[in-house]
Order: sequence, then C-alpha cells, then structure tokens
Amino acid sequence: MTVLKHQNKPVLVVGSIALDWLEMPDGQKGEVIGGSATYFTLAACKFSPVHVVGIVGSDFPKRGMALFRKHAANLDDLQVLEGKTFQWGGRYHEDWENRTTLFTELGVFERFQPRLSSANKKIKNVFLANIQPTLQLDVLNQIEDPDMVVCDTMNLWIDIARESLEGVLERVDVLLVNDSESHLLTGETDPVTAAKEIINMGPETVVVKLGKQGAILVTASNVIRVGAYHVKIVKDPTGAGDSFAGGFVGGLASGLSMVEALVAGSSVASFCVEGFGTEGLEGVTMNSIKHRSQMIKEWSLMS
Ligand code: AMP
Repeated sequence: MTVLKHQNKPVLVVGSIALDWLEMPDGQKGEVIGGSATYFTLAACKFSPVHVVGIVGSDFPKRGMALFRKHAANLDDLQVLEGKTFQWGGRYHEDWENRTTLFTELGVFERFQPRLSSANKKIKNVFLANIQPTLQLDVLNQIEDPDMVVCDTMNLWIDIARESLEGVLERVDVLLVNDSESHLLTGETDPVTAAKEIINMGPETVVVKLGKQGAILVTASNVIRVGAYHVKIVKDPTGAGDSFAGGFVGGLASGLSMVEALVAGSSVASFCVEGFGTEGLEGVTMNSIKHRSQMIKEWSLMS
C-alpha cells in the first residue's frame, strides 16, 4: 500500500458529534465521546487532512474538543451552541454483532444550520456521515464543485426520512451501508443484488459492510470482496462503520485505489473495536495500519 503524502486533498465531513451512553455485555459507560463525524475524523486523518462540519452543545467536554484539535486539520465550521450535545444510547448483545438503540436525543442538532466557510465550499472530497439526510443535503448544496461525494446512513433515516435520503442518493458517487441497511433500503436480502438496486437510485458504487465477513464493493460491472481483520478481543464495536468509512474515504483522497482504500477501511475499523470509544484509534500508527492491510489482502487472496 503506497500512501501518497496527503497530496493536499482534504476531506470534508459532516456528521454527528456525540456523547454516547453504552451498555456492553460486561458493563456500562456514559458520556463517551462519539458520533459518526468523530470516529470518521480519527480514522481518516491517518491518510488525509480532515475538515469538520458539525455542532456540539455548551456541555461538550474539553477532552472532546482536544480530540478534534489534535486530529482535525480544520475546525472553522464546527459550531458550539448553548444547549445539549447530541446524545445516543446503545446496548450491545452478547455476540457484539447486534445492538439496540436505547435513545437518540438530537439536542443542538435540532437547531443546526451548517454555514460553510468560503474555503470549505471549494473542497473536492466530501463525506456525508450518518446524520439526518436533510442536513447532508444542506451541506452538499453548499459545496461548489465536488469531485467525490461519499455517503453513509442508517436504519433510522431509511425508516423515517426515506424521501430526503433518496434525494441525497441521487447526488452521491459512493454509498456505504451495512447488510441490514441495504436490505431495508431495497427489500433484497442478498447484498450484491441489493447493491445493484441501490446503484439504480444514484450512486455509481455501493460498499456493503458485512461485519466479521468484511465488505463488498459493487459497481454496475464489478464486485470486489475484502475480508475483515479478526481481532482477538472486541472491547467496543461503536464507530466501526465510521472508522471503516474514514480509512476508505481518507485513503481514496490520499490517492489509494478503490481496492486498497477498501482494505484500508477494513484495517482501520479493526483498531477501532479493540479499544473503548475512540481510544482504539488514538494511538494507531500508519505502520500498524499497513501491516494489517497486508494481512487482509493475503486473506482475501488479493495480493
Ligand atoms: P457506528 O458504530 O459506526 O454505526 O457509529 C456509532 C456512532 O453513531 C455513535 O458514536 C453514535 O453517537 C452515532 N449515532 C447513533 N445514532 C445516530 C443517529 N441517528 N444520527 C447520527 N449519529 C448517530
């Protein structure tokens, strides 16, 4: 894997910045710094500079701000508003594969009006992380001439905001979903068939994440599979999908091919689940990401 040194191609992300309340099979933790934009930033910054668009409330801890200052290249469009930061509660089941959302409190997100700086409007690579599709559209509408738009979503928005989500899908190049989301979106249980249906909705490329089974990338003419790196002990799977996205989109922006970026996403996600909250991503070096990428390639018989 040759990672070209940042190539001056930053990625702009809009997504949630959260305080998470997590119930694990072996205990509970509250006020964990999380959110789709947070995990994405910590993963993508290993490959490309990240510009963050988001909002936090006046209760957002200093340690959260320090995390962003350390990992993001640009925080001009990170707003702080009087009120409560977005909060999400989740309960993991014994197998770690399934989780239940206990609550979602939008807090300051309800009043979020993204207004991009003139420099951010000119950005070429955009990641619309998991948030309300109307906010994803709002940000996308402000980008003057994007080269690559990648989008993520979740069951909640497919259920309650399908129309606006379809409006987003018409305008993106790549959609990232997991297999339950691709099923919900199309009614198809087979991920390749579902991905082909989604291609008819707009994106040229669909990546379906399959948990421990890795991921598949589907275009109209091609299907590429990569495996996952099997970690010995999973501590906290929160953010695995967003970290995968960070490795994938950050990797693409740094000049990796689609396949190499897919492997990079898989590699970075494996570090995320080994630590609690963001701690698994914080100390990761490029060498260790490359090492796991190589192993994933060998397992996937791609090298
Ligand atoms: P992942 O495990 O990759 O699906 O991402 C988990 C993160 O998504 C958590 O840190 C949550 O704060 C965030 N999250 C959960 N539900 C939502 C939602 N409805 N909108 C935006 N972010 C969410």
